[in-house]
Amino acid sequence: MEHQQPHVVVHPLPVQGHIKPLLCLAQLLSEAGLYVSFVITHHTHKRLENLSALTAQFPNLHFEPFSDGLPDDHPRCLNFDFFIDIKTKTKPFFKDLLLSLDTKSEKGLSPPVTCVINDGYLSYPLEVAEELRIPLFTFIAHSACFLLTYYSIPKLIEEGHVPFSDNNMNLEINGIAGLEGILRRKNLPPACMMKEVTSPLFKQCLDESLAMNRASGLIINTFDDLEVQCLPHVANKFCKVYSIGPLHAFLNSKIGNQSQLIASHASLWKAEQSCIAWLDSQTLKSVVYVSFGTLAKRSVSQLLEFSHGLVNSGHPFLWVIHPDVVLDEERENAMPEELQKGVKENGCIVDWAPQEEVLAHKAVGGFVTHCGWNSTLESIMARIPLICWPYTSDQNINADLVSKVLRIGVELEGCDRQTIESTIRALMDGRKEEFQNSIDKIAKCGLDGIGHGGSSNQNLEFLVEDIKKIKS
Ligand code: UDP
Repeated sequence: MEHQQPHVVVHPLPVQGHIKPLLCLAQLLSEAGLYVSFVITHHTHKRLENLSALTAQFPNLHFEPFSDGLPDDHPRCLNFDFFIDIKTKTKPFFKDLLLSLDTKSEKGLSPPVTCVINDGYLSYPLEVAEELRIPLFTFIAHSACFLLTYYSIPKLIEEGHVPFSDNNMNLEINGIAGLEGILRRKNLPPACMMKEVTSPLFKQCLDESLAMNRASGLIINTFDDLEVQCLPHVANKFCKVYSIGPLHAFLNSKIGNQSQLIASHASLWKAEQSCIAWLDSQTLKSVVYVSFGTLAKRSVSQLLEFSHGLVNSGHPFLWVIHPDVVLDEERENAMPEELQKGVKENGCIVDWAPQEEVLAHKAVGGFVTHCGWNSTLESIMARIPLICWPYTSDQNINADLVSKVLRIGVELEGCDRQTIESTIRALMDGRKEEFQNSIDKIAKCGLDGIGHGGSSNQNLEFLVEDIKKIKS
């Protein structure tokens, strides 16, 4: 009987890289017999590419749009001001939404809310959940090692590492347990780059983010063998940690290619399927796939230089040039004709690709990526070695994890055409076997983890059991 079902309210940060893994988690919880409300803002709701297909495909997920309290013309860019704005403006609307779900349950229309699963970088849901005495679990869409960098900030400030005394961003920082060998200045959260990092307002925001460990537990889209070094240190900071990734592969393993369906229906952009036909015409493992995700930026001159390196590598390529990739201050500059012309002969350019499908295609042999966490996980599970060209945020530490710890790819050491060409040749030709062997091993660990008795599989079961134990 539906009304005995535990009711989980899932609330993502409104960006592509967070919506998809949380939808995968929501669907997994729904498959496990829970009633799931997926709560998104009106603004995100409007932007989802194909919400009607999504609701038709996943009829057991209940979509609950609500107002974020911001004016229509608010830029909603993921910067400090945005987080300050939503902290006060969105909070009352979120509270009203939870109260309205209560009213719904009183009318017998849905079960009472059991708990909230909140995107860890939104602080207001934790405050609201505490006010309403609803248990809350924090979800992190990025790596465990990046989460540890956040928790290291107070110590780094105390020891004088932050704010930085000079511009050497490659400087290694030692002494943070779990991050040995992979902590460089540039791998720290962008907040550390700002002078205001010691200001009271900043400190307050940081404390609010770190307060996510007041939650009943941390759910993280990673798997034990992938982040052996730092997961135990993350575990020390939370009452419970459920590492249940890679969520896209987990969902696909339950009921074939569900996460690809989520990606196509819940995308903020429409994927150009024509690139799959183009891939069909290419030879086995010959194609370099290039995508910088949704938040990374490049200058026009970097893109141009990159295109030369790509063409000179001699490999065919599929390149996602998303309109948002160009640096804001260069938006006015048209993409140079040279780029469009030079690449057409040997490549295929699209605005947005069905990435999981592309990575699973037999013609693809390497991935030049900004190292967003979803892209990294998708590449690993598709066994496609990576060239890392990180831009910001977690991408830098992910690149070190890929190239230094897991050795399943290399980091681009410069963005001139010669370096780009030689790095692509190394990945696709010279060091191909070495990378393929390492990625095959870690992908197998990932598969074992989501399989019967595997760590991610068990952690999901523990999470479901713990939710079921909560008294409504
Ligand atoms: N993606 C896609 N098509 C594209 C480029 C990206 O479907 O052309 C998806 C990709 O599969 C991933 C997400 O967008 O799931 C990007 O998330 P990620 O964490 O890699 O990077 P972000 O955009 O958050 O920096």
